[in-house]
Amino acid sequence: MREKCGIFAAKTENAPKKAYYALLALQHRGQESAGISIWKRGMKTYKGLGLVPEVFKNGILDSMDSNLAIGHVRYSTFGGLNEAQPLEVECCGKKLSLVHNGTLTNYMLLRREYEKKGFKFRTSVDSELLGISFLSHYMEVKDEFEAMKLVFKEVKGAYSLAFLFDGKILVARDPLGFRPLSYGEGDGIYFASESSALLMFLSEIRDVKPGEVFLIGDEVESRLLMRKPHAHCVFEYIYFARPDSMMEGRNVYRTRIEMGRQLAREDNVEADVVIAVPDSGRSAAIGYSMESGIPYEEGLIKNRYIGRTFIMPSQELRSLNVKLKLSPVGEVIKDKRVILVDDSIVRGTTMKRIVLMLKDAGAKEVHVRISSPPIKHPCYMGIDIPSRHELIASWKSVEMIKKSIGADSLRYLSIEGLKKAVGIEDLCMACLNGVYPEYAFDL
Ligand code: SF4
Repeated sequence: MREKCGIFAAKTENAPKKAYYALLALQHRGQESAGISIWKRGMKTYKGLGLVPEVFKNGILDSMDSNLAIGHVRYSTFGGLNEAQPLEVECCGKKLSLVHNGTLTNYMLLRREYEKKGFKFRTSVDSELLGISFLSHYMEVKDEFEAMKLVFKEVKGAYSLAFLFDGKILVARDPLGFRPLSYGEGDGIYFASESSALLMFLSEIRDVKPGEVFLIGDEVESRLLMRKPHAHCVFEYIYFARPDSMMEGRNVYRTRIEMGRQLAREDNVEADVVIAVPDSGRSAAIGYSMESGIPYEEGLIKNRYIGRTFIMPSQELRSLNVKLKLSPVGEVIKDKRVILVDDSIVRGTTMKRIVLMLKDAGAKEVHVRISSPPIKHPCYMGIDIPSRHELIASWKSVEMIKKSIGADSLRYLSIEGLKKAVGIEDLCMACLNGVYPEYAFDL
């Protein structure tokens, strides 16, 4: 599972360089492309394919000077530079640059309607629709907030976004608040997908409320334009967000510790040691150990210097790939009954290789514990989840999965346990329970 994007926007001195630092802090949300748009007597955008430092090399940032900037990191399995963001959109004689995190559920329907009216789309990404919808309404009503209200009514799905145009920035979070968005004011005003990307600039940071819109020009104005029941993505807490981020008043690390504790409360297995799949299972494994009293140790070591690897063409090379990324600490594992904690199982293939690796290293028993309920359904709100037939839990029982990964036992956190651990109402859990928030599809 992959987060699709991270966004940033700011009005401050040295905005492009600060955008660069913030994008580095958001790199975990997208590694395929990066870009920054600035405003200085007009729009200027620089973007490229690759990691943030690969894109902004050779003094490119030195040629970008402005106090207004928006930035983006993107993960995507399709499209090239044309689809990378920031995306410049022209419509009705006006131009803006946009960054967007999320997915629009009525994109195809609306695109066809706009095309029938003569609007031209230049890319195949849904984000372009946000720009066209906003500009077409703005040119009609001549007011940014009124135009955004019409976008909220028209465009369904998940979108945390920033538009740069006419020496202004407009920032908005969709009315259900699927994807996170934080902001704060200090020596300027800053917005980012996660609060952890703003910690270097600010001491006080809060969430942009779902349905809230900011307009940053000579003054800063914000309005709450639409109230709906919220649907915050529970997987931000389970896996995507950085542990040092705060979301809806909850620290991500603390919620993961609590997921591990709750998992231990629901469990009764006897074991000698708790280990984590690094880094994704570490916080929950620590929580499990705290609650159960079974000692936590580093039983698997991750090679941090591999970077992105190619898709290996054969089974043998794929196994070598996993061995290169992770290696077991024999001293911790040999002759032990091991509890192995991770945050999720998607296809089951990686977990199968890790269990085998632990058994080869001498583990007496391997009990797999997962700090989320089984993922059974696809996501239409901005997360790249494999199709239903690739999701092992959508067609295999827990007992069947246990057998296929070769574990001695397997247990997932319950839905109720997860809700308790996160501790906030209004969560989207559609990929776990199949209940999709109604307004996101209210066409
Ligand atoms: S379906 Fe799952 S991954 Fe998608 S927004 Fe909802 S909780 Fe997040």
